[in-house]
Parts: sequence; structure tokens; C-alpha cells
Amino acid sequence: MSPEEFRAFGRQVVDWIADYYAGVEKHPVRSQVRPGEVRSQLPAHPPEQGEPFERVLSDLDAVLMPGVTHWQHPNFFAYFPANATGPSILGDLLSSGLGVQGMVWATSPACTELETVVVDWMAELLGLPEHFRTDAVGGGVIQDSASSAALVACLAALQRVSDGQVASRGITRRHTLYVSAHTHSSLERAARMVGIGADNVRIVDVDPDSLGMDPKHLDALIAEDLAAGAVPTLVCATIGTTSTTAIDPVREVGGVCRARGVWLHVDAAYAGVAAVCPELRWINDGVAEFADSYCTNAHKWLLTNFDCSLLWMADRRSMIDALSILPEYLRNPATASGEVIDYRDWQVPLGRRFRALKLWSVLRWYGAEGLREHIRTTVGLAQEFAGWVRDDPRFELLEPHPLGLVCFRPLFPELSTGDANDRVYRLMESLNESGELYLTHTKVGGRTLLRLAVGSPQTERRHVLAAWKRIQEAVG
Ligand code: PLP
Repeated sequence: MSPEEFRAFGRQVVDWIADYYAGVEKHPVRSQVRPGEVRSQLPAHPPEQGEPFERVLSDLDAVLMPGVTHWQHPNFFAYFPANATGPSILGDLLSSGLGVQGMVWATSPACTELETVVVDWMAELLGLPEHFRTDAVGGGVIQDSASSAALVACLAALQRVSDGQVASRGITRRHTLYVSAHTHSSLERAARMVGIGADNVRIVDVDPDSLGMDPKHLDALIAEDLAAGAVPTLVCATIGTTSTTAIDPVREVGGVCRARGVWLHVDAAYAGVAAVCPELRWINDGVAEFADSYCTNAHKWLLTNFDCSLLWMADRRSMIDALSILPEYLRNPATASGEVIDYRDWQVPLGRRFRALKLWSVLRWYGAEGLREHIRTTVGLAQEFAGWVRDDPRFELLEPHPLGLVCFRPLFPELSTGDANDRVYRLMESLNESGELYLTHTKVGGRTLLRLAVGSPQTERRHVLAAWKRIQEAVG
């Protein structure tokens, strides 16, 4: 494709995306295709000869679009938001256009240095502690996902607790990792991947009201494991659990970790970005004093398209010691000088995209005020929705719900818990099948709850109100 052809097709693609956003509301939110329907319309073999790019665009419309679920639809209330916005898409396009590999500073200095600036800006915007900044002992890095961030945290924790033995000799003792039943499954996966093993993932009780981790039970489990000769290695505290946005008491959990010498990883994948608003910074209570690592995803709620997950270390040495290997082909004068950052040592893969470009575009386009406005608007809509649920006696509302997610359920007092759960699930499926809105569910205390997450910049009050009316109608 020549630059001139690229220019022509590029314009068509940008127009296509602009039209998509302008008309996203006309699509059913959740794709309505059956399994295999998209695949059956695609050729079984790749083309022998190249085809005109128009054919890609026409197949996109005819074959792929019916199989797309519209995460940017204003009535997408499922999971957590995964915002894509104009500046982030354009930043990502520039990154693709440049096509640089930022594995070490020397392979594209701007890729590294912009990332350093952007993660430090983010630390400042979120009110994170000074020691997370790159000029201090800590530092931030952009990962592809919170799952990768958890894996890197586990490797760093193993490095620290074993004085480097795990990196050289592998796991020779029983290491243990602590989560609650509400911790994201990526922690158990990380434990499996690093060789700690799922059986050594200890499940700490939660407070039945707040659903936050019980620090006393955590301490008791660690004591038990120490007595049995295990090496307690990492505790994951979550700020904003996937299920209900419950918040673990980081300060108390951190106190236990400090006393026991255990690494504290804080997973704030969804909720952490809310701290751009000073009035929501309370969610990070205890992070400054106790977190060894902290993660939040710009690619969920902060107007930045996937993937863009921010990981900070309080002290970066364990992570770098765990991951750094310098093969001959990567040797270069800048690395040897010790004056530069090579982010390949801060992540699992070697290669890395210029992800900082899209976050930089977002930060510059919206400014801190624009980001705060987005968080405040979406939290405000969620709170208004919660008020409507609270006022309708046919529904039960799960408290608290301080952020953009509201968990609730229609009451079916005549039914057993099991039957009521089935009914709630079926009700959700029928709403989702309608294509008018998209909700997901969770289970707390044996009861199925509906989750409605407000987080898209396309979502206005009228969309949330229409969703509520539709839910009320479905309950009858
Ligand atoms: N942690 C929490 C609390 C989450 O809610 C999620 C995803 O929803 C993750 C981790 C995983 O995020 P990622 O897809 O970036 O790995």
C-alpha cells in the first residue's frame, strides 16, 4: 500500500469510525449472532491474491458487524466500562503508524521517555505517593493488562522474599499467596504461572457487610502457614472488586503485611482512576504507607482504549532483579551507561508498543478537569440509578455503591432462593437478548444480583432512566 493509497483508505477508515460513533445507538448492544455464524460466512482459506481494501470494509459491515457487541454503546452497562474515545483512538493510530518497538530505551528513546512522563503525570493526578515516582526508588510502567501487572508483582514478591533464590533456583519451598473470595481470578492465574500453585492460594474471609478482606483472618492464616514452614509471599488487596466494587481495608491489611514481611499488591484495576477526583481519594487509604505495588487500568474507566494498564512499584529493584537478563543482542551503550530505563525489565514480554501515546493524547485532550468531569458524571448517574432502585419496594439494593457500579436484584418473595436466582438470571438474559441494554450479574451470599455499571462517555441520564424503566417493566 503506497502512502497515497494509505491516505485514501485511511480517510475512509476514519470516516467509518466517526460514523460508527455517531450511529452506535442504532445497534443492538449485545451481538445477537449464534455461535459459528460469523465464522461460517468467512472463507475457509486465505486469499491467494491480494484484494482491494474496499472489500475488507464491505465484509466488516456485512459479516463482522452483526457479530460485534457494542462496548461503546450508551446502553452498555455490563462488566466494567472499556472506554474508547477519539483522542485515545488517534493516539493508538499514531502508535501503529510509527510501529516502534520500545523494548529498550535505545530502540526508540521517545517511547520510553514519554512513558516515564505519562506514568509520573498519572501518579500526580491520582494523588499517589511520591515514592511511586520514577525519580524516587519506585516508578510506574504501562502493562497490557492488570493480569500482567499481577504476574509482575508476584515475580517481584518472590524475588524479594527469597533474596533472589527463586530467580536462580526456582521455587524450592512452599510459597503462599493471599486473596479473598472476591479477588480477581488473575491473581490465582499469576500464582499458577509463577509456580506458587493454586493450592497455595489462601482465601481470606471477608466482612459480611462490606465484603472487604478481614485483616484478622489474614493474620491468622499467615501465622498458620509460617508455623507449617511455608513462605507467605504476597497479599492482594482490591480497591473495587470485580463483583461489587467492594474495597479491602488496605491500611489494616497493609499493617499485617508490614508486620509479617509480606508483599502487598493493590489491585485497583477498575476503581483506581476514580482518584483523579480528590473527593474519591479516600479509596486509596493506606496505599501510600503500605503498598509495594499498585495497579489501575486506564483502559477501563479513563477514556483510553484497551490496552493500557498502569503498574507502580514502591521500590522497583525486586521487579528489575527478577526480570532482567541482558543477552548480547540487546547490549547497547545507553543501557551500559545506566542512565536510561529499559522497560523490558518491567514486564513479561520483551517487545512493547508505544502505549504512552494514546494515554498522552487522552491526558492532553481532556486535561485533569475533563477526566474528573467524566468520573463525576458517571458516578452521579450510578448514584441516581441506585436511588431509583432504593425507592422501589420490588427491588433490593446492595450497599455500599460509591463508584459507577450498582448491584441490585428484583425480589421474588414467593420463590425459594434457588428459584429466585434462576428468575433473576433469566430476566437479565431476556433484557440482554432484547439488544436494548446489556447488564451482567454476580452472586453474593448465595443470591444472584444484577450489576449495572455506568462508565461510558456516551451514556447520558436519559439512557440510564430508559434502562431503569425497561428493568422495571421486565419485573412487571
Ligand atoms: N482486577 C480487577 C479488580 C478487575 O475488575 C479486572 C477486570 O475486570 C482485572 C483485575 C483484570 O483486568 P485485565 O483485563 O486488565 O487483566
